[in-house]
Amino acid sequence: MINNKKIALITGASKGIGSAIAIQLSKDHDCHILINYKSDIKGANTTLDEITNQGGSGEILQFDVSNKIEVDNALNSWKEKNPNLFIEIVVNNAGILKDGLMMWMPESDWDDVVNTSLKGMYNVTQSTLQEMLKKRNGRIINIASLSGLKGLPGQTNYSAAKGGMIAATKALAQEVAKRNVTVNAIAPGFIETAMVDENNPTVLSGMIPAGRLGKPTEVAYLVSFLASDKAAYINGEVININGGLYS
Ligand code: NAP
Repeated sequence: MINNKKIALITGASKGIGSAIAIQLSKDHDCHILINYKSDIKGANTTLDEITNQGGSGEILQFDVSNKIEVDNALNSWKEKNPNLFIEIVVNNAGILKDGLMMWMPESDWDDVVNTSLKGMYNVTQSTLQEMLKKRNGRIINIASLSGLKGLPGQTNYSAAKGGMIAATKALAQEVAKRNVTVNAIAPGFIETAMVDENNPTVLSGMIPAGRLGKPTEVAYLVSFLASDKAAYINGEVININGGLYS
């Protein structure tokens, strides 16, 4: 019965960190999981299968987080079908890389990266926040990056997008804290997913004090804690998870 469950929306949950978060929240909090993806329906189905195989429940919601109309249509239609439920946990995880030196960066690479992480966070949060405020309960967890704190060369677009998410997290936390809504960001270092596969994992491991990349589940455990009642007084924070690479 999904009527007795918390509802958690995870953007970009067809693979990688988002998929691990979806599975972990289902396991730890028995949430009904809304699995968002953009193009990888097979991956979204695999995430859903893993959730149902462990006895959980979920459904797939396809939309492009960077497109406000698509986001509103998908979420409004879900709300119409589920008038007694509200999305209590939002994990803004969808993100892409289009690395390149600023000097040669096409405008479209800047826009695509910023519109996915930063505008996507606005689109999804704006569409779900009002209900959290009305119900005086909510958790928003933004998956930022080391790149948004330190800045990484070749990633001015990505660093700007993730740095923007971090600043927005701090501002929004102060707007909504009185209503029992928390807004926090997580800044992963290098995590073993398709996003870093194209970089050389051996070279990367050599740079990391822990001597290895992080696992998607290790990020998911942190999200699960921030989503829990135990984390009710943590608000406006940015938590690093990077094997000691940067703090
Ligand atoms: P990934 O394996 O490439 O997965 C990215 C996910 O985002 C996919 O599910 C993808 O969906 C989805 N997505 C991309 N654009 C979207 C859009 N416009 N609308 C909806 N969904 C979209 O990446 P990951 O490594 O798991 O990264 C997840 C998050 O962690 C990202 O925000 C990333 O910036 C951040 N992060 C990752 C690392 C790392 O080392 N991996 C480090 C720091 C931060 P489709 O497959 O359906 O397109």
